[in-house]
Amino acid sequence: MKITMTTTAGNKIGDNQNSLSAGSRGPLLMQDYQLIEKLAHQNRERVPERVVHANGSGAYGTLKITNDISQYTKAKVLQKGEETPLLIRISTVAGERGAADAERDVRGFALKFYTTEGNWDLVGNNTPVFFIKDPLKFPDFIHTQKRHPKSNLRSATAMWDFWSLSPESLHQVTILMSDRGIPKSLRNMNGYGSHTYSLINDKDERFWVKFHFKTKQGIACMTNKEAESVIAKDRESSQRDLFESIEKGDFPKWSFEIQIMTEQEAKEASFNPFDLTKVWPHSKYPMIKVGEMELNRNPEHYFAEIEQAAFSPSNVVPGISWSSDKMLQARIFSYADAHRYRIGTHYEMLPVNRPRVEVNTYHADGSMRFDEPKGTDAFYEPNNFNGPIEDKQYVEPPFPVNGDGYRYNHLEDSDDHYSQVTALFNLMDASQKEQLFNNIAEAMQGVPVEIINRQLALFEKVHEDYAQGVKKALNL
Ligand code: NDP
Repeated sequence: MKITMTTTAGNKIGDNQNSLSAGSRGPLLMQDYQLIEKLAHQNRERVPERVVHANGSGAYGTLKITNDISQYTKAKVLQKGEETPLLIRISTVAGERGAADAERDVRGFALKFYTTEGNWDLVGNNTPVFFIKDPLKFPDFIHTQKRHPKSNLRSATAMWDFWSLSPESLHQVTILMSDRGIPKSLRNMNGYGSHTYSLINDKDERFWVKFHFKTKQGIACMTNKEAESVIAKDRESSQRDLFESIEKGDFPKWSFEIQIMTEQEAKEASFNPFDLTKVWPHSKYPMIKVGEMELNRNPEHYFAEIEQAAFSPSNVVPGISWSSDKMLQARIFSYADAHRYRIGTHYEMLPVNRPRVEVNTYHADGSMRFDEPKGTDAFYEPNNFNGPIEDKQYVEPPFPVNGDGYRYNHLEDSDDHYSQVTALFNLMDASQKEQLFNNIAEAMQGVPVEIINRQLALFEKVHEDYAQGVKKALNL
């Protein structure tokens, strides 16, 4: 059966090849609504790209819980035997949409779980730490990763200037410059919730938690040279690999694990457990197996389902909550705000973002309200007309805080920026260290010597061999 084309109003189209003109040589007639609609739509085919994480790939999958962690959480999505549908979007941070995939960069690892208690979004990265720990520094940091305002070029000077003036970035910089800085594919890397979150059990006890997704495909990476030859032939290498693997039924899997810290342990920890530049050492806070994640379905329409996908750490369900990690707290605001700007006030009504449960808010109107709420007298709250009401069982137990409001020096709060980086450096074998030195030397090309020296002084504090290795690679 042939399907007849229509305009957006459903009016049948008789000719989609020839515009309406006065005589065969033109000019065109303004009443050619089909032409005008077509050109107008083309002008509006893009939404603003994400300021960070613009270039990404996505897929659907399932989270299966295989172990009992009910002593830590009452969240239904985390109970043994549960299977929850999910959407993932994995992205580079700095490149614009259309940038090459195989770049040395952190990868975003954003998950949306469509749970029976509303959406839970875990918006992490493929590294357990981040460059900074106070969100006041975030826009400046991102400016160094993007383009110079005059040259419109990426600036190695800006990156190393900022990093060398921000010692807390050393941990993430070392991971980024290590062999893991360019994953072979999105399937061959781990995902981390990165921030500290909390789990709350049915006795209203709170536990601090770190979320880990360990790849079952094995870690595999590319050297700079290998990545260069991939990019020369294929700018969409990650997208292609993920899409084609899923199309042919080779479904990637990750083991889902957590680390737990009690409130008392957090008070006694030798480091700040809410500091995003630190990990929780496995020996002290062992990994607990929870389940498995599998990706098993490609989206049907990239723009509708992945470009319009909107993840935000503000989306949590009963039994899962936040911590006092300052970076997390800022993201709770800024991610939802970014989506309201980027795709509109009602972005959570779009099919890919819509929870699989009833949504009952009193938020009114605004651009593109496309649900069809029933007319009701209950359009404000409190009301006498049986409108949705609060339920006190969902009030969280008190959130532990201490101290007076002040602009505390966030670097002094946990001023050991080095020992965990030393632990990582000591894990690397000779070849990994050599790659680290060479990757840094390559990334420092053209950077003024005083900035290089400032950064070398930071490497020196991690390990003498680290500074010496980079110096040698730089021929200094
Ligand atoms: P462990 O030896 O128990 O764990 C080391 C971890 O480091 C493993 O998770 C391993 O991941 C990971 N790793 C190995 N090489 C690299 C690399 N080049 N880049 C990033 N991660 C790597 O030691 P600790 O828990 O005491 O941690 C020691 C250091 O390891 C930390 O300071 C941190 O830099 C790094 N790390 C720690 C993590 C944690 O949550 N504790 C998580 C990731 C890194 P895999 O098993 O996949 O090989």
